[in-house]
Amino acid sequence: MSEIKAMQNTDIKLWIKDKENCFSPSVHATQDGCIGINVGGTVIVKPIEVWHHLESSLASAKAELAELRQIANTYDCKTAEKDGEIAELKKQVEKMKTLLEIAKCPACDGSGVIAIQISSRRLVSRDMAMDAGDPSLEGSLYSDAEWEPEQCQWCYEKNEILKKYSKELEF
Ligand SMILES: [Zn+2]
Repeated sequence: MSEIKAMQNTDIKLWIKDKENCFSPSVHATQDGCIGINVGGTVIVKPIEVWHHLESSLASAKAELAELRQIANTYDCKTAEKDGEIAELKKQVEKMKTLLEIAKCPACDGSGVIAIQISSRRLVSRDMAMDAGDPSLEGSLYSDAEWEPEQCQWCYEKNEILKKYSKELEF
């Protein structure tokens, strides 16, 4: 008995497009103050205020969508711009790599080694010659200049840069 009661339709039929056809579009009011619209068997029920508000919310939704589309467009442009900038930078780096590869070292002969003088030649003084018992030694050399090989800083940095950028640009 109670089940039948629950299924009882309390809607108030307000209007039907075609009175001869029960499937035709219709409007009804529910007991709790909502308006239901039935078209093709799909019923949409909303409080009357919501129905009324639909038009303005649709307008603001459209405006919001237009704004979002514009942001998306700007974003695409920015991304394209960034891609262009990156491509341009890569080109510049390639150019600089080529220049660096053929550049002559301003510090060494290009071997990457610089000879550093650690001692200079010395001449035998008069006292030293007298001490040695041979005055003719005065003015002669008693030691040669000494040199030590050292890595050229310029060549080292150049090689590090070329190594770094040949790795980074491989993608
Ligand atoms: Zn060098």
